Amino acid sequence: MSLLIVGTVAFDTIETPHGKVEKVIGGAGTYAGWAASYLHSDIRLVSIIGGDWPKSELQRMNARGIDTEGIKIVEDKKSFYWSGRYLENLIERETLITDLNVLADFDPILPDSYRNSEFILLGNLTPAIQSSVIDQLESKPKLILLDTMNFWIDIAKDELIDVIRRVDLLSINDEEARMLSGEHNLVKAAEKIMKLGPRFLIIKKGEHGALLFGDDHMFFAPALPLNNIVDPTGAGDTFAGGLMGYLANQSEINYEHVKQGLVYGAAMGSFCVEDFSLEKIQNINSSEIDARIKAIQKLTTVDTAKL
Ligand code: AMP
Repeated sequence: MSLLIVGTVAFDTIETPHGKVEKVIGGAGTYAGWAASYLHSDIRLVSIIGGDWPKSELQRMNARGIDTEGIKIVEDKKSFYWSGRYLENLIERETLITDLNVLADFDPILPDSYRNSEFILLGNLTPAIQSSVIDQLESKPKLILLDTMNFWIDIAKDELIDVIRRVDLLSINDEEARMLSGEHNLVKAAEKIMKLGPRFLIIKKGEHGALLFGDDHMFFAPALPLNNIVDPTGAGDTFAGGLMGYLANQSEINYEHVKQGLVYGAAMGSFCVEDFSLEKIQNINSSEIDARIKAIQKLTTVDTAKL
């Protein structure tokens, strides 16, 4: 089945207590595409880049089965550029620079061959762009996942809520869930948000894992505790890519499959944070992924019969 990913393909400059990297490849779409490519083979990426984004990186994506026909290249302009600095706790960060560049004119037109995609990952972009992608689909997808950020809750809440009503799965972090719902308690926040329409809601809690709500159930997937966190940039996008890569292999979408997908998302996210940019996520293999899945399983399984 086909997985369509819409998200930024960018350059980032990132500073963490472990060092600084300048103008390295980044972008939510890039992270999600790479993560999904380890689990699924029919991936289409929709984005916009300038002439400065390395063509060799597009070829690397193609070699992993990521179709990049949907990435518009504006040769005489610059790619989206983001720069951020993390605090000592590696959780909080400040955005230093956001240069929209080509993203300022991004109005994605889906290639015809993308319009029947069965799984859709709408990365963090303006709600108007996210809506326009849904409008261009010719058949009802099996699942649409929406990611967003506090910025859009602040300045475009009504438009955002309109898109949330059209998706099956909303993936946000705990602060965003509180902002969106006006409730501090996350269970109450989830109840309010689910009333907007999505069948599933994931509330990410960074290094403390992620909660899944849906079909009157609640599930928790931990983040794998790691002794080497270098750069958290893109962890949420990598998580979403892993989750959707896993789900795109399922013929039916049910609560159990989304639960399993959460564990794949957590495993992929755990690689992302171990190095700067996409360094780690571009260099893993399936046995390493399997080992992480087993590690998460071991972390959370207890034989209660012996208690
Ligand atoms: P995350 O750490 O999950 O927030 O993802 C960070 C990635 O998203 C970086 O690689 C950035 O290039 C990209 N990014 C940062 N700010 C934005 C924004 N306002 N809109 C879309 N993508 C962004």
